[in-house]
Amino acid sequence: MINLKEKDYVVIVQCDIVKQRCPGYLCEKAFNERTGGFASYPKDKAYRKINLTCGGCCGRAIHRKLTNLARVIKKREGIEKNSIVVQLSSCITKDNYHAPPCPHLDYIKGLIAKIGLDVCEDTVISDKAQQRRQAGLYADNKE
Ligand code: SF4
Ligand code: SF4
Repeated sequence: MINLKEKDYVVIVQCDIVKQRCPGYLCEKAFNERTGGFASYPKDKAYRKINLTCGGCCGRAIHRKLTNLARVIKKREGIEKNSIVVQLSSCITKDNYHAPPCPHLDYIKGLIAKIGLDVCEDTVISDKAQQRRQAGLYADNKE
């Protein structure tokens, strides 16, 4: 169980393909309101936050991006890996109107684990998508 109270730095990773169109506003809103995948984050704690994309299929670039980020913030500010949490956006983790979940989800999670960073899943959870999952229109993978 990841203790989000002990984290200081949130890295939201979004699907590179989806981000060609999506500004990521609903991810930001969910974080700001501590809803969806952010519901377990304490509301009274201010987090540093950065958004990245996976870098494109097959997601391999996320290893380089996160390795570089962890190295730089440790060097510049002394922030350790255990203060960082990676949050995979719902367009990676969930079946929704954009597309099915990322076919490389397990691979990406493995890359992040290899760096030694904690990873959580989901960002925005839309009521409509949830209803469609319950109706069997979308795969109810984890939401
Ligand atoms: S989860 Fe939604 S808002 Fe966030 S990046 Fe993906 S498509 Fe955009
Ligand atoms: S690897 Fe997955 S998350 Fe990244 S661009 Fe491809 S489908 Fe999107």
